[in-house]
Amino acid sequence: MKPVIALVGRPNVGKSTLFNQLTRSRDALVADLPGLTRDRQYGTGRVGGFGYMLVDTGGLSGEAETLDTLMARQTRQAIQEADLVLFLVDGRDGLTAADEAIATELRGFGKPVLLVLNKTDGVDPDAAAAEFHALGLGNPLPIAAAHGRGIAGLMQTVKGHL
Ligand code: GDP
Ligand code: MG
Repeated sequence: MKPVIALVGRPNVGKSTLFNQLTRSRDALVADLPGLTRDRQYGTGRVGGFGYMLVDTGGLSGEAETLDTLMARQTRQAIQEADLVLFLVDGRDGLTAADEAIATELRGFGKPVLLVLNKTDGVDPDAAAAEFHALGLGNPLPIAAAHGRGIAGLMQTVKGHL
């Protein structure tokens, strides 16, 4: 069975853009595997000889009042099924309270988490990364998913964590 990587983060940080980059598809495959529901997006990808399964999620808002929404429940289920979580944040917006709430929630799952700093195009990546250290998830890995930048480096790091 291929390792499963879940893409998590608040809405609009670029999860689906990264999903499409990593699966090289515009239209995500929906896996027909037992135990996997159809309401999350599954795809497969490969770097070098390394194959993985990727799960795109609707995301977590980080807001308490929406914790029980369907989207949040599905996202939590995806996290539970994952071997590794890629937690996406937005280098243009900077660190938000929602990111902090999601980081706290992710800690409760006990899954390995890599912090991915997206939208680093047009911003100083070091300056953008600095404030995200406060999340306690280590050095953010800078990418610009929409431009395919940083993806190879990201996947090298991912490989090292699976
Ligand atoms: P999701 O809600 O987390 O799945 O986010 P999407 O993948 O739908 O992307 C939300 C918006 O961010 C879209 O308009 C994307 O084109 C844009 N976006 C995604 N990646 C990047 C990036 O690397 N740089 C910039 N500037 N915009 C991006
Ligand atoms: Mg999306």
